[in-house]
Amino acid sequence: MTIPSDVDVLIVGAGPTGLTAAIRLAQRGVRATIVDSAPHPARESRAALVHAATIEIMERLGVAEEAVRRGRRVNAVSISASTRVLARIPFDSLEGPYPFALGLPQDATEELLIERLATLGAAVERGWRVDMLQQTPAGCRSVAAATDGTDSRVIVSRYVVGADGHDSMVRAQAGIAFAARRYHEDFLLADLPLDPPPSPEDEARITLSPDGVTVFGALPSGNHRVIGTASPGHEVPSHPDAAYLDALFAARGIPTRAEGEPAWSSRFRIAHGVAERMRAGAVLLCGDAAHVHSPAAGQGMNTGIADAYDLAERIADHLQGRGDALDGYEPGRLAAAHEVVRLTDRITRAALIRPAILRALRNAALGRLLTLPAVQRRLVRWISGIERSPLHR
Ligand SMILES: Cc1cc2nc3c(=O)[nH]c(=O)nc-3n(C[C@H](O)[C@H](O)[C@H](O)COP(=O)(O)OP(=O)(O)OC[C@H]3O[C@@H](n4cnc5c(N)ncnc54)[C@H](O)[C@@H]3O)c2cc1C
Repeated sequence: MTIPSDVDVLIVGAGPTGLTAAIRLAQRGVRATIVDSAPHPARESRAALVHAATIEIMERLGVAEEAVRRGRRVNAVSISASTRVLARIPFDSLEGPYPFALGLPQDATEELLIERLATLGAAVERGWRVDMLQQTPAGCRSVAAATDGTDSRVIVSRYVVGADGHDSMVRAQAGIAFAARRYHEDFLLADLPLDPPPSPEDEARITLSPDGVTVFGALPSGNHRVIGTASPGHEVPSHPDAAYLDALFAARGIPTRAEGEPAWSSRFRIAHGVAERMRAGAVLLCGDAAHVHSPAAGQGMNTGIADAYDLAERIADHLQGRGDALDGYEPGRLAAAHEVVRLTDRITRAALIRPAILRALRNAALGRLLTLPAVQRRLVRWISGIERSPLHR
């Protein structure tokens, strides 16, 4: 395929956010091109939880049925202090067709979206990095360079969608400020087989212990996703192995063991923040380019997909003469991003509490509050993204 020199919308970045925008614009008959500097899709599992509001969006994209088939149903989230379950919060109070979440690794979600884009006659232009963009009275003039250094192209478009991740070049070129703050702690992540399973197969479990917080969820491969905070005074290796994880589980009183080496593991530091704006003229940001936060409650990819769907709908409405719907994008999605950052920050800070007395108070409060049906219903609506969904605005 060759990159057209003149399109309505140039989408920079083909992660889950950019792919969602590309599919919706293609469904709405808008001329769009999606480019990505990487030679192939990311192969890491990263975001492993697809929430109900995202499955509803996937239904509009035409991929929900397949996502449910490929994923693993998560019917509840539970919170335990070592082995004692403090609260079990079922998703079945959610109204709507998907009263559950899906365990589906991000590479599988992206594969599904890429397949869907192909059925609409479009594809990602890979190996092109957008290095420069300039706003013009008619829209934008962007320069994309082939990553092998052999070529470069000028693309003129009415709009540019910056879906190019947390180090967004589009954001920088549009002059949009982004101040993210880092948590001091290291976090670890691993996908591996565990025996016995640390939680029922249809449940995500958050385990609180004096040593730190560990979260478990089952993946379609049969592996378990583990996310944990580092133990005080311990450095997390860049790729935690089975021996490291077994020692961590033992120290936290979690009765499970690795049944093999992780398929993927990683150490990461988390930043949190929201871009000052999500729109500068003809440049619109979505996904990690606009907000980053802790993985608490698995909101990152889900929020990006909601941004992208909303934006694509509004661009299509605007280009097809249905009023100035585009003006509502920034206020609506900035508010959603701030809410996600605020609440994931609170959850993360609560998870990182160290003094024993405060931990005991936290656990007692969680045990009381989270067993109240009204609180559970409210929490489930928040986690699932239904309240922030562009489909329910
Ligand atoms: C280790 C790790 C674990 C995570 N775990 C979770 C989790 O459990 N739950 C959760 O919800 N989220 C998680 N996340 C976050 C989640 O992966 C992101 O929120 C999600 O990938 C954001 O999607 P995106 O499409 O906005 O950006 P990205 O997925 O970052 O995609 C951006 C794309 O833009 C391309 N690109 C960048 N610059 C350019 C350019 N100049 N020109 C062309 N292309 C460009 C990149 O190649 C990339 O493909 C995790 C992330 C990491 C790193």
